[in-house]
Amino acid sequence: MTRAAKTPDHPQDFALRVVAWQRLQGRHGLPWQGTRDPYRIWLSEIMLQQTQVSTVLRYYGRFLERFPTVTHLALAGLDDVLALWSGLGYYSRARNLHACAQAVVQQHAGVFPTEATVLETLPGIGRSTAAAVAAFSTGQRVAILDGNVKRVLARHRAFEHDVAKPAALRALWTVAEALLPPQGGMEAYTQGLMDLGATVCTRRRPRCEDCPVQADCRAHALGNPQAYPVKTRRTQRRARSSVLLLALHAPDGAPAAHLRRAGPEVQVLLQMRPPRGIWGGLWTLPLFDDERALDQALAARGLLQPLRVQALPPVQHALTHLDWTLKPCRVWVTPSEQGALSEGAGQPDAPQPEAGGWRWMGLDTALASGLPAPIRVLLEAEARQAGPSP
Ligand code: SF4
Repeated sequence: MTRAAKTPDHPQDFALRVVAWQRLQGRHGLPWQGTRDPYRIWLSEIMLQQTQVSTVLRYYGRFLERFPTVTHLALAGLDDVLALWSGLGYYSRARNLHACAQAVVQQHAGVFPTEATVLETLPGIGRSTAAAVAAFSTGQRVAILDGNVKRVLARHRAFEHDVAKPAALRALWTVAEALLPPQGGMEAYTQGLMDLGATVCTRRRPRCEDCPVQADCRAHALGNPQAYPVKTRRTQRRARSSVLLLALHAPDGAPAAHLRRAGPEVQVLLQMRPPRGIWGGLWTLPLFDDERALDQALAARGLLQPLRVQALPPVQHALTHLDWTLKPCRVWVTPSEQGALSEGAGQPDAPQPEAGGWRWMGLDTALASGLPAPIRVLLEAEARQAGPSP
């Protein structure tokens, strides 16, 4: 049975309810709230994209400690930024973050802009992020429309069009603009819409009974909130598997059985990913399509035998459109084998080794570098096993 909905055409009323709800029920006391500093706000907005608050809380303070101003961030090496970002995922955000900081220093003398239209011209800042930074830093009256807010508004209006299509998205932006508070309250309103989407109007189980805009929500009246936002195209997930070469070496050249005693001296072979694409600009273990490709790569370096390759349990890694099975193969190598595997590596002191180059790195150094989460987990396990020197 469906319920009659009041006409949802009272923007002022909609905004007032969201603001009042946010003040009483919304999220407060997060480290990026209560500041007008656009740098800190921007950093939180980028980190929060497709990432939960509880995860961002583990990174935000550390990041600000290391890069307290946009100038500190601009002057840092990309490697340092990626190392601190390691584990947050969606690494293009970190690369754009760095590029944006450099643009602020070069184009705005290190003063972070607060005007939405100016913010939008910077790397990695889209229309919604620009609006959020402008609203939180100066109270500018501009609409946000991130993933959560799209869901709230699409449900509230029972929006029948697929927002992945540009014309429909433009129409939803118009809705978002029409619903803005007529004056003042932009900070609480913007935060309120974000909080509603994250905590009440959730993707799977919206808690309509706790929602401040339930009275005129059309999707609620129709009894089918989950039908919105409408999606006419489903994303196809792909499955892929790769073999990881986990080559380890201890400098004393001891037989494999004793190599573990080398402890922190243990070195691991790493490869830098190309700057674009999955894990772009991060260090990873050398990746191969399958075991045969790994064998061929080793054979090409004269290492077909007697490498003692040990297959480790596979690791499942889920990316946005990809279910990735990673199959690590561990091998402890001798000094001559290590030399052969160094072939093609960048110069040891080069700040940005060529993409694809192989480089031996101490385990501790590797763990302080920018690593994708599953590679970090593997190396941390090796570091634990290696233990301290006797
Ligand atoms: S009433 Fe339910 S569906 Fe409508 S906006 Fe609120 S939580 Fe979402």
